Amino acid sequence: MGILDEDIEQVRNAADFVQIVSEVSQLRKVGRRWQGLCPFHAEKSPSFSVNAEEKLYYCFGCQASGNVFRFVQETQHLDFAGAVEWVAAKYGITLRYDNERGGRERARKQVLTEAMERAVAWYHERLLTGADAGAARGYLRSRGYDRDIVERFRIGWAPEEWDALARTLRAPVDILEETGLGFTNRMGRPQDSFRGRVMFPIFDTAGKPVAFGGRILPGGNGPKYKNSAETKLYSKSRTLYALNWAKEEVSRVDEVIVCEGYTDVIAFFSAGLPRAVATCGTALADEHFRLLKNFATRIVLAYDADAAGQNAASRFYEWEQKYEVDVAVLALPPGSDPGDLGRDDPEALVQAVKEAKPFLEFRLDCVLSRGDLRTAEGRAHAAEEALAVIAEHPSELLRDQYVMRVADACRIDSQRLREHLASAGNRRTSTRLNVDQRSQNPSRPLAGPEIQALRLAVHRPESVAHRLEEVLFADEVHLAAFRALCQASRLEEAISRARPEAGALLQRLAVEDAEADPDDVMRLLVAGASQRAILRLQAQARASQTPTDYAPTIAWLKLTTEQLWQDETSIGAAGQLVAWLVEFEKEGG
Ligand code: ZN
Repeated sequence: MGILDEDIEQVRNAADFVQIVSEVSQLRKVGRRWQGLCPFHAEKSPSFSVNAEEKLYYCFGCQASGNVFRFVQETQHLDFAGAVEWVAAKYGITLRYDNERGGRERARKQVLTEAMERAVAWYHERLLTGADAGAARGYLRSRGYDRDIVERFRIGWAPEEWDALARTLRAPVDILEETGLGFTNRMGRPQDSFRGRVMFPIFDTAGKPVAFGGRILPGGNGPKYKNSAETKLYSKSRTLYALNWAKEEVSRVDEVIVCEGYTDVIAFFSAGLPRAVATCGTALADEHFRLLKNFATRIVLAYDADAAGQNAASRFYEWEQKYEVDVAVLALPPGSDPGDLGRDDPEALVQAVKEAKPFLEFRLDCVLSRGDLRTAEGRAHAAEEALAVIAEHPSELLRDQYVMRVADACRIDSQRLREHLASAGNRRTSTRLNVDQRSQNPSRPLAGPEIQALRLAVHRPESVAHRLEEVLFADEVHLAAFRALCQASRLEEAISRARPEAGALLQRLAVEDAEADPDDVMRLLVAGASQRAILRLQAQARASQTPTDYAPTIAWLKLTTEQLWQDETSIGAAGQLVAWLVEFEKEGG
């Protein structure tokens, strides 16, 4: 976005990737690579690997991968240009921009952010010291908020006066309007957007203030909550209240609690669970999940999910699959919300989070507890409703487990229920990924001579490059990875140009050690290719009128392949076989 390519290159060269990663996760040198706990998923044994020279990373646990800029983007929550600027600042490099508009836009955002920062500070100060803020302070105390909480969340007070903030900031009206802090009134004068409200500043993940939520005092006029309109700085669907404060705990525990309001979030923090966030006056949406999955794989909904679930269940399952997260629901005592419970009985709130149930289980329990299970009619009816809830889940294995639960609760034979479910479920297509695929162990090292050859080509190209040929790779992805390596001058270029599976493979190989003996690898590789050629020739011979024509070639291949394993003939045999294989391939095998 406007930074000169050569400057980006300079920044990349200057970056000490091990140092940058070490700020987030401690690394240990293992062989030629560096290893540590993955900053992108919760784990106890390190599966995060770094290639210091190429400045690439790969996690064997969650498959997070990328280069130094990607890493900074993900861990500092910046866009690409922001990541380049972050690294540049760290290593004292001045960047040049090729596009004035991009530069201007950034400068403008900077000005708006500064205005927001001053507003946050001013509202906050006003709450703490303003003579007119007594009622607001009293209200917050009645909610159980002490000074620590007020300061931690930078809560403020917007006075009743119609232009108190505008006068204090002395900002041009266009800045007031672009930040949503104020507007031009009918008299043509600047006026504050928020008046007579307790102010909850909303920050982006990087901690910059982007918006406000304002709560009216009890008995005041107007809607209970008023939120900033969307601005250049603020997008509702991409912002979660308190994620800036919660993100560390969220990724440490691998769990995020999603609330509906600011005060619920504060209740969780106060109860010793500083991993709660809230949507800002909007429903939980796709963009929120995209944001959250960077931090945690378990998402606990802390609001009336039964009501939400009626309409949104299939979307939640979709998000679970798409973003590889698990959605659970907090079981709150009936009629209570997290804010009240946190104030009256923080222990109960902590317990409720521990007992959060998977989304489907929660919905099922709601249905079953509503049903009248004392009569046969009631049980049959509850079972039907329960099956309808189960049928929405895309995983067959999971559906089956819940069928058994319904069978128990409703005292109906589980096989009957399965048949019922199948007849309802046949209308669904189950082409989607099964959730159980997630449990496959991804850290199993890749094996086989083709992989070993690629690994050598990545780390020690001089040891194999002159001996490798396309014909030696039988696997399509391996071949694509090899081609990408041949066509690029740098590993990272190969990764970005290769088709996705091949790029992902190279990225992973980049952080693995290449300890294999190149000669052994070549032997195995050539022997494999030769074996495939023999099989093809034998098939051709069987289909031919004159099968004996093939016999000498097959015999030669077998003999020469044997010679691969004898030290004195090995290199010569490999050379002859590769030359023959290349010709054979050219003639169309
Ligand atoms: Zn990971």
